[in-house]
Amino acid sequence: MIDEYDILIVGAGFAGLSAAISASKDGAKTLLVSPALAKTIPDGEAGLDLLGIGPKTAAAFEKVADCSPPYYIATHGFKYISPDGRSFTDRSEEERGWTLMTTEATQILLKKAVVNGSDYIKSPVIYFLTENGKVEGVMLGDGRMIRSKVVICACGYNPNLIEKLGVKPPEESLFALQTIVEMEKEGDEHLLFTFFCGKKWSDSLGGFLMPVSRKKAVVALGVKSREDAHRYLLRVIKEHPVLSKAIKWNPGRMYGGLIPLGLTEKSFGDGFLLVGDAAGHFRPVGGVGTGNALIFGDIAGKIGAKAASEGDSSSERLQEFEEEWKKSPEGQKLIQAIPYSKVLREADDGLLEDAFSAFEGREIGENFYLELIREVSERLKV
Ligand SMILES: Cc1cc2nc3c(=O)[nH]c(=O)nc-3n(C[C@H](O)[C@H](O)[C@H](O)COP(=O)(O)OP(=O)(O)OC[C@H]3O[C@@H](n4cnc5c(N)ncnc54)[C@H](O)[C@@H]3O)c2cc1C
Repeated sequence: MIDEYDILIVGAGFAGLSAAISASKDGAKTLLVSPALAKTIPDGEAGLDLLGIGPKTAAAFEKVADCSPPYYIATHGFKYISPDGRSFTDRSEEERGWTLMTTEATQILLKKAVVNGSDYIKSPVIYFLTENGKVEGVMLGDGRMIRSKVVICACGYNPNLIEKLGVKPPEESLFALQTIVEMEKEGDEHLLFTFFCGKKWSDSLGGFLMPVSRKKAVVALGVKSREDAHRYLLRVIKEHPVLSKAIKWNPGRMYGGLIPLGLTEKSFGDGFLLVGDAAGHFRPVGGVGTGNALIFGDIAGKIGAKAASEGDSSSERLQEFEEEWKKSPEGQKLIQAIPYSKVLREADDGLLEDAFSAFEGREIGENFYLELIREVSERLKV
């Protein structure tokens, strides 16, 4: 058994790094344990390590890291495409989104955590140490055991590890797959986040085209199972009525991972907290995962540090975390989005096409997705 910590964080993704920064800033003796920094692609092609972010996520990064998020390119709005290729553009001169360089972003966050005083061990956690049902530490891949007053599990969507805490992981998930493509024509018209949907193109929530530069973009889509993902992604590139004409055929390197659709039954327990994708904090409407991971990770670090300093890491004490994130504006949006996203996931192409027709000749509002879901729901009622 080595050192005892106040806070031990499992996973160096946006949630775990944010928790490490806030816990160490609040004076807790903090350890971060992870086999790797999340969303980095070893020897990967520049641009494949990107996530699309909006102003709230950018602000959350800035608050946590004390610097602007590193990005490939700024985007100026959105384009939404129906299953048959009807498209609606909502573009402005101002910057409304960015394609985050995730390798640089997680490196900045790790440095900030270490500067604040966190220790970092590069290793997987394979087991949680418990005493009378209370989590008291972890066992690492090399057999080392480390004790901690509070364990914050931020391991992403990793059902096997989450279950070891005695917590039921979200039952549904989607497999997201992305690849870099070159655009047929180089230009400013690509500087939009483009959302496309339809069962023909994705049997789940749909996908995005996100610019990396004026001539390169990433196509990303979410489907129900890993086995079908390549087939769907290649079909979009070759056959989609809008995208296949805009992008060049490029069967290059693909990169993917699992994303939860739904919350874990709880995000706290005796001696532990769960945060980020590990707790199901991904917002499926609009695809917001990074922002929630950063915001709720910050809350987890603060509450964990406070509980550790008070010497009370009971389930009753740590429940405050769930109360706090649920009442935050982003928590409220997440709770609303989970059932709504099911409507979008289950709607067939004919219904979606008809719902898109309601936007013809109309201004696109701030939350297109919720409006689209409303249109779909109304048609389901008839
Ligand atoms: C292909 C793809 C595209 C996406 N696109 C977007 C997007 O455009 N915008 C957006 O906001 N979100 C997007 N997401 C979702 C977003 O990536 C996640 O919501 C976000 O990264 C969650 O952060 P996290 O810290 O909870 O988990 P993760 O980023 O998954 O980090 C988990 C960390 O835990 C570590 N870990 C795993 N197992 C163990 C273990 N046993 N022991 C110790 N550590 C462990 C991992 O190595 C990793 O460092 C996308 C996801 C995928 C897969």
